[in-house]
Order: sequence, then C-alpha cells, then structure tokens
Amino acid sequence: MENSFTEENYLKAIYKLSRRTNGGVSTNALAERMDTKASSVTDMLKRLSSKKLVDYQKYQGVTLTDKGLKVAVDIIRKHRLWEVFLVEHLGFGEHEVHDVAEQMEHVSSPLLVERLDKFLNHPKYDPHGGPIPDADGKFPAPTRVKLDELPVGKQSKVLGVTEHSDSFLAYLKKVGLDLGQQFTLIDRHDFDRSVDLLLNGEPLHVSHEVARHIFVSN
Ligand SMILES: [Zn+2]
Repeated sequence: MENSFTEENYLKAIYKLSRRTNGGVSTNALAERMDTKASSVTDMLKRLSSKKLVDYQKYQGVTLTDKGLKVAVDIIRKHRLWEVFLVEHLGFGEHEVHDVAEQMEHVSSPLLVERLDKFLNHPKYDPHGGPIPDADGKFPAPTRVKLDELPVGKQSKVLGVTEHSDSFLAYLKKVGLDLGQQFTLIDRHDFDRSVDLLLNGEPLHVSHEVARHIFVSN
C-alpha cells in the first residue's frame, strides 16, 4: 500500500522528534512540528496505527513500528541523496536544496533511488553534513559532534548544520563558519555555554544557540 506525502511527513517528524526525546512523541509536540491542530494529529495517528506504521497509546505518545521506522529512514535517505544531486549536478546552492528535496523525497521508485545512490558514488553525508543511511537503513558511524559538545582545546572543522534557515546560513557565512572551515575551540563559558573559537588566527565568540546547530569533526 502506498503512503501519502502527508503520512510520510508525519513518519519523518515522529522519527526526528523521537531521537530528541529518546522515546514516545507527544501529540502536542507533533502538532507543533507539523504546524497543525492536535485533533488532526490524532486522526493521522489513528490512520498510521491502522497501517501498523506507529504504536499509539493515548497518554504515552507515539513511537514508530519497525515498518514505520523503515519508511521514515528511507524518506531521509532519499531527501539527503537528492540534496547531494542538486548541489553537485544541478548547480543549486546548499541553502536552496532543502525545499526542493522536501518534494523529491516522496518519489517512490526504489530503482531510481538505487541508481541515484550509485550515480553519486554512495555519498555518506548530505551538503549540510547530515548522515545518509544506506539501503539497509544503517547510518554511517558518527565522526562528528555538535559544536556545543566539543571539548575545549580541540582542533576541529565545520561539517554541517542542523538549522537550514536562510538567516542562520547567512550568519555563518558572515562570521566565516563555512563548511570545511577549520578552527580551535579555546574556551567554553559555563554561564551561558557560549564558546570562543580561534579561526584563521582571529578570536570568534559563538553563542550556545548557534553552537548547538553546528556539526563539527570530533
Ligand atoms: Zn534538507
């Protein structure tokens, strides 16, 4: 049975939220993420539950079944592969690809995805540094941490971001935190968990809010 775009987007949202909470996802969190009413979420969860894609207990929140997890990871795989394709072969800027990939991720031909993956030479990361699961749904081993978790004194480089808004990407560009940029973490302030970096010989102060959205090498 085919899943609709909306169903797939819910599965993806449940996957992403559950990685944050490490467990069941509340209807409210899902409603906020999907920008809709809690009652619409409940209807959708009943539908997904009848297709055995989620386990939904009214007061314990929702979790993905193995079948639902497989669909969600496959959507993420397609999304990230298309982003690589758009940047490497169609000349899109890395800020421009997310919204296009949001549509392409729903094209459901397994053969297309297999050939795309091969054509791109089996990339492990998307242009934002997000790991690409393989055809079996396995993610590459983590060789990266969030900048807000990097130990003080460590030399590192920028590998990606978890926030794709134009204003965030423009900010990174302005302060010189481009993809691949090397730096050393010289201090972390306990008070607000902001950090000081040394970047091309110049100090740069980075807020915790910014640091927690940047992936760096470990
Ligand atoms: Zn994206």
